Amino acid sequence: MKTTVASLEGSRQNLFINGEFVAPKSGQYIDSFDPTSGRPWYQFAEAGAEDVRAAVEAARSAFAAPAWRRMTQTDRGRLVRRLAELVLDNADELALIETRDNGKLLKEMQAQMRAMPDSYTYFAGMADKLLGDTIPVNKLDMLNFNLREPIGVVGMITPWNSPLMLLTGTLAPCLALGNTVVVKPSEHASASTLALAELIMEAGFPAGVVNVVTGTGAVAGDALTRHPGIAKFVFTGSTGTGRRIAANAAQNLIPCSMELGGKSPHVVFGDVDIEHAVNGVVSGVFAAAGQTCVAGSRCFVEASVYDRFVEALVERTRRVRVGLPTLEETDIGPLALSAQLAKVETYVASGVRQGASIAAGGRRPQTAELAGGWYFEPTVMTDADNGMDFMQEELFGPVIGVIPFSSEDEMIRLANETRYGLASGIWTRDINRALRFARNVEAGTVWINTYRASSFMSANGGFKESGYGRRGGFDAMEEFSRLKNVVIDY
Ligand code: NAD
Repeated sequence: MKTTVASLEGSRQNLFINGEFVAPKSGQYIDSFDPTSGRPWYQFAEAGAEDVRAAVEAARSAFAAPAWRRMTQTDRGRLVRRLAELVLDNADELALIETRDNGKLLKEMQAQMRAMPDSYTYFAGMADKLLGDTIPVNKLDMLNFNLREPIGVVGMITPWNSPLMLLTGTLAPCLALGNTVVVKPSEHASASTLALAELIMEAGFPAGVVNVVTGTGAVAGDALTRHPGIAKFVFTGSTGTGRRIAANAAQNLIPCSMELGGKSPHVVFGDVDIEHAVNGVVSGVFAAAGQTCVAGSRCFVEASVYDRFVEALVERTRRVRVGLPTLEETDIGPLALSAQLAKVETYVASGVRQGASIAAGGRRPQTAELAGGWYFEPTVMTDADNGMDFMQEELFGPVIGVIPFSSEDEMIRLANETRYGLASGIWTRDINRALRFARNVEAGTVWINTYRASSFMSANGGFKESGYGRRGGFDAMEEFSRLKNVVIDY
């Protein structure tokens, strides 16, 4: 891979269409900002509708071309495994690129990049397991069977918070199953997806199998989701954007898979080791400065241990180290966007106006070293009510609200009192209670005495306004293939 942080610095990056890096038709480029300084560090191409059309056309031609369509399943799987090797070889540089682009901790990005090859390898194994089935008919001399086949061009729109890891969960099965792809990465973190395109070429995928159109959501994203030549959209991002994309796709009756926002509950019962639960809650909400879709930002604590829990939570939160994302000792880095910082500040202030108290954090760090970046202190809000704006809106920042509960019924009502349904966590030693929670909570993922542990081998997704469709595990076979029924009279 030729792309490095050093080669990106001050550069102009082009679109990746039909196996080549090409300038956008408009000749326009957009600044990408370094969240630690707030300054631009490279530029990426602004794709317009014409560029998007060219990318979809390339993907459609590649889907139909013998080089891909008639490639054996074994060879397709081998290509995906080759990509896994290349990602592993370049994991450290890919991690440096993402950290520079989105401000997330280098150690976290390294962990993601080093785990990604396993995901490619897992899905590569699906290439030769696309099975159909035979179905009985009420006529003996008829054969009735289902062929399972790839669906065509998949349009993928990704967010900035973990660009490559989130892309991998859908790109890997899509390629293994014989589809072709047009990716529109976030305008706030496009560099790593362009670097991956280089590895895709190096692995030997035919031109046009994967295309990357960078640019804004309003122009490039909109043009992609209005294109009738796409077989399916996979979107990961905010609920508001998901709604717009689903509306565009509906005009052409194109199905979508939606991985959207969350406002996930963390429930703590008095029978647990408080320190253990506090550590779990802290990493569950403050990881990546709160910029994870599953952040457990609403915390419900059994009233009998509420004071003790809050005291320990505040003490632990004050020890979370905010700093430069590249330093080993840093626990949380900056927010990725200045608008994100402004949003967090606005909601914390509105929480205070509505009656909540700031028990820890609640402001930008006061050190000169961090003054230029988009940092915010990890924040604990008490005296909260579940109806307050900061308890209902996804902040995507390091803020948690804590509320006591007195009964299991009250707890489950509070946990489910949200329009989202992405994830949830419970801390208790009582397995029956934990299983009752798992049954009654309206969330796509339930963690018991842990949080954020996930696997590409299981299906993940949301309920309610957190989305629909699943990624990961064997469900990917269904998501990215379709059935064709064939009947023969013999
Ligand atoms: P976003 O919705 O602002 O943007 C996501 C992508 O959509 C970007 O590539 C953007 O350019 C594009 N986009 C924006 N407007 C568009 C339009 N009108 N048409 C087409 N594309 C458009 O989200 P973000 O700020 O990048 O990411 C944060 C959000 O993503 C949070 O809500 C978070 O919860 C969610 N998220 C969800 C998951 C999950 O698995 N459920 C994972 C990560 C992030």
